[in-house]
Amino acid sequence: MSRLTRRGINMDRPTTKEVARFFDKVQITKHCWLWEAQISDKGYGQFKFHGSGIPAHRFSYQLFVGPIEPGKMILHRRECGNRSCVNPNHLYMGTNADNVRDRELWGNPGIGEKHGRAKLSESNVLAVRRIHKDKRCGYAETAESFGVTPALIGSIVRGRLWRHLPLEDPLTFSGLTKMLFPDRKPAGGKQ
Ligand SMILES: [Zn+2]
Repeated sequence: MSRLTRRGINMDRPTTKEVARFFDKVQITKHCWLWEAQISDKGYGQFKFHGSGIPAHRFSYQLFVGPIEPGKMILHRRECGNRSCVNPNHLYMGTNADNVRDRELWGNPGIGEKHGRAKLSESNVLAVRRIHKDKRCGYAETAESFGVTPALIGSIVRGRLWRHLPLEDPLTFSGLTKMLFPDRKPAGGKQ
C-alpha cells in the first residue's frame, strides 16, 4: 500500500497513476513548476492524496528527493521564491530557523505571483507547435497573441519546454527521477 503522510515521515512511493495525476496539475516552465490546481490561502499548492490535502511542494520533495525528517520544513530556495512552485530542484529541507532567516533576508516568498511568466495550458502549447510546424519564423507574432515572450515560444517549438509532460507515453517515476537527478541514485525508496 502506497502511503505518503502529510508530515512525510512514513512514505512509500505513490503509483505511476498517482504521479501522473500530480503532473496533470503542474505547468512546467523553464524555471518553476507551477501548481495549477488548488492553492492555499498562504499560496502553497494543495494536492489531494489518499483523502487528505498535502502541500504540493512537500509531496514533490518526497517524491523526487526523499522523506522529510521530523520537525523539518520544505522551503523554497531564494532563486525560486514562488510558493506555488513544486520543482524539486527549487526546494530544500530546513528548520524553522532557516525559514525565519530566509524571510528576514529576502522577504516573504511570492504569494500568487507569476514572476512575469504567463500561463500556457497544454492545449496552448500544442497550438503553438501546430502554428509553427511548417514555418520557422514569426515567434514574435505568436508570442504577442499568447501574451508571452518570443523566447518562450521558441523553447516550446524546439521542444525544450513541456517535454517533461509526455502526452502519450506512460509517465514513470524512475524516468522522471533520472531526468531530474541524472547523477544521483534514486533516494527515498523502500527501506
Ligand atoms: Zn521554483
